[in-house]
Amino acid sequence: MTNRSKLKQLNEEIIQCRRCARLVAWREEVARVKRKAYRDQDYWGRAVPGFGDPEARVLVVGLAPGAHGSNRTGRVFTGDASGGFLYPALYRAGFANQPQAESRDDGLTLKDLYIAAVAHCVPPANKPLPEELDNCQPYLERVLEILQPKVIVCLGRIAFERVLRLYSVRNPAWKFGHGALYRLDAAHGSWVLCSYHPSQQNTQTGKLTTAMFDQIWTKAKSIIDEDT
Ligand code: SF4
Repeated sequence: MTNRSKLKQLNEEIIQCRRCARLVAWREEVARVKRKAYRDQDYWGRAVPGFGDPEARVLVVGLAPGAHGSNRTGRVFTGDASGGFLYPALYRAGFANQPQAESRDDGLTLKDLYIAAVAHCVPPANKPLPEELDNCQPYLERVLEILQPKVIVCLGRIAFERVLRLYSVRNPAWKFGHGALYRLDAAHGSWVLCSYHPSQQNTQTGKLTTAMFDQIWTKAKSIIDEDT
């Protein structure tokens, strides 16, 4: 089975998933009530699958769908301010064919990069509960198994902590910080790279600037380039 078909199968399972009752109720409620500006649109209102290159060496791990972003459009980081900050950066670094991400059929493709999440359903107040992260963790494990990425870019502390947990890393010296880089597996040559999440809370306050974000993707690129 190719990576493409394995990921396709995985994503079909994710889309059907109803494991977290609270999140299922919330994603459907948001899709029913809608934001005024999008009242004429059909919201996705389901779990949002991963997206990207099935042969990616860079895996991006995000937090969870945005209520009126990917919970509306059905594609990760698509249709909201976080995606409006992420995809232009991926485009500048050569990981995306275009900076725009508006809908599932906007022509966006990713090269050597795949985007997953620690929770595939929108949580109330953007805060998934620990048990919901536990429920969703097998999906992330399977993406990691399929791709065996060289670089895992963790967008935010929660993604970082989940990835460490998955690899059974218990090193107190490994702390989350923007640009922090750790060698995960010497034999496989894989790395974990931390970044602040491109949420409006970070980008509008200047905690995460365009230059800071570009450094992350330049670093990820340099690691995979060393590998070729
Ligand atoms: S968050 Fe993950 S485990 Fe929970 S319902 Fe959504 S896809 Fe399923």
